[in-house]
Amino acid sequence: MQIKTFQLNPLEVNTYVLFDETKECVVIDAACYYPNETELLINYIVDNGFTVKHLINTHLHFDHIFGINALVEKFDVKAAFHQEDEFLLEGIPQKLAMFGFPNNGVDYTPEVGHYLNDGDIITFGNQQLKALYVPGHSPGSLCYYSEVANCVFTGDVLFQASIGRTDLPGGDYDKLAHGIRTKLFTLPPETAVYPGHGPKTTIGFEKQHNPFLI
Ligand SMILES: [Zn+2]
Repeated sequence: MQIKTFQLNPLEVNTYVLFDETKECVVIDAACYYPNETELLINYIVDNGFTVKHLINTHLHFDHIFGINALVEKFDVKAAFHQEDEFLLEGIPQKLAMFGFPNNGVDYTPEVGHYLNDGDIITFGNQQLKALYVPGHSPGSLCYYSEVANCVFTGDVLFQASIGRTDLPGGDYDKLAHGIRTKLFTLPPETAVYPGHGPKTTIGFEKQHNPFLI
């Protein structure tokens, strides 16, 4: 499995495109906001001849969802995420205004496609991702783990030397810390961690050095 990372929108969300030799791909957290970012992401997929099999989200905070509608429109996919986060799709335009995003007249509120739950397997090409339910940053946060590729996509659950904030609606520090310890820190230490913001890390490094969890 190969991984292409895009850092998108003013809040610098990591959007990941995962693909393999079959040219089937999965997009995690399509976060393109400006038209040139959307073009960049779509052109990357089209120019490589990829088929988008799944469009999945780690969670539905507004900064992680901007590109969903553009990709749904362009490719034959629907957005998939955990149902517990669906309430976060209310009032997206107001949230944008609150964070000072330029109002470009686009309604980024995505349509619900499929719901994902803990343990669900997402397949594309010769690859598999397993959804791991780790609530606490948001109530419906999912991480996506590939045992074969030895990596996990953690959204805003776990960052390099940090964890997701828990002061937003539905946030819960105890749940988050418990989920990280039981669902993520039980993965092999060499597992690469691809977070929703910032640089990648490993499970082993975070177990030893993450100041929020040691
Ligand atoms: Zn978030």
